[in-house]
Amino acid sequence: MLYQPDNTRYDGQMPYRRVGHSGIELPAISLGLWQNFGGVDVYETGRALLRRAFDRGVTHFDLANCYGPPAGSTEENFGRWMAQDFKPFRDELIVSSKAGWPMWPGPYGGPSGSRKHLIASCEQSLRRMGLDYVDIFYSHRVDPDTPLEETMGALAQLHRQGKALYIGISSYSPELTRKAAKILADERVPLFIHQPNYSMLNRRIENGLLSTLDALGTGCIAFSPLAQGLLTSKYISNTAVEDSRATRGTSLRQSMLSEDNLGRIRALNQIAARRGQTLAQMAIAWALRDPRITSALIGARTVAQLDDSLDAVKRLDFTADELAQIDRYAQDGDVDIWKVSSQIEG
Ligand code: NAP
Repeated sequence: MLYQPDNTRYDGQMPYRRVGHSGIELPAISLGLWQNFGGVDVYETGRALLRRAFDRGVTHFDLANCYGPPAGSTEENFGRWMAQDFKPFRDELIVSSKAGWPMWPGPYGGPSGSRKHLIASCEQSLRRMGLDYVDIFYSHRVDPDTPLEETMGALAQLHRQGKALYIGISSYSPELTRKAAKILADERVPLFIHQPNYSMLNRRIENGLLSTLDALGTGCIAFSPLAQGLLTSKYISNTAVEDSRATRGTSLRQSMLSEDNLGRIRALNQIAARRGQTLAQMAIAWALRDPRITSALIGARTVAQLDDSLDAVKRLDFTADELAQIDRYAQDGDVDIWKVSSQIEG
């Protein structure tokens, strides 16, 4: 049936936040398609998730060349959802893709930050999604074997060609972020956004990256604010939850379900209950408490999960006392995606 989005989608249910010093805003909560939208997943579930998100004011969908499995299949599916449902709404959407992790065979297919890899990969992504341009194109990872000038030069080229309206980087250190921004600025291309991992169980970006981005006027979209589902109530009483990311055993390592992490998650769950929120909602609201975070980039496997998470915007404020209580438990807890990202291609 022809998709008719909810007419109330811009009636104030979703706040929008300006991206750094740029001219555009992103929804406070954005939806990522890393998992649950690939060729192995149920096509109509992915479609229902995108429709529901858009109905609730989520105007930003985040993809990457390698999302699937198989790699590339998420962009292919997205191309079909665009054609079937979202074509009339292209100008209401911010669609992003990325390149840098392994994608195709041979010396140029990645992992790579070379000009060859980035330009070819962006062309492939546009073809798979049936788009003329992406709104944001990212260098997905630092490539220590490619000069930063080459990687940034490729992004600047895509920007000048109009194939990427805005440029981003993901998982770059503060120092490399500053260098990347300088190289881009010399090409008269602003560094629009950075996409790091950030959650109550991984606060590394508070030690330098956030202040760096603030000084540069670059936005910050925090990925995995639920620590891949750990910061929900699902693992509190049972660590072998059927259908969960932990039991699928792909990106959520069993070591993340340590007694230390689970103890802190239980305590955080109680604080959330006192605030009248689910833990997922409090985890998202907490990531957004800092105005330097432009958007929380979540994932969802079901529409019920998505609805639960999007309800975070109903209560974004925290008292100083609540923040102090949360600080006792919200500490780095071996959930760092970067450690395994060469295997998970996140
Ligand atoms: P997340 O929001 O931390 O985790 C999402 C997962 O948590 C869901 O798939 C689901 O997993 C569970 N979940 C979500 N909402 C729930 C709820 N309300 N109650 C219970 N469980 C819930 O985010 P993520 O999927 O790890 O990452 C989000 C996006 O960030 C990705 O899609 C991608 O766009 C981006 N990302 C980028 C990088 C990078 O290197 N730049 C790396 C990783 C991710 P179950 O299957 O267990 O139910």
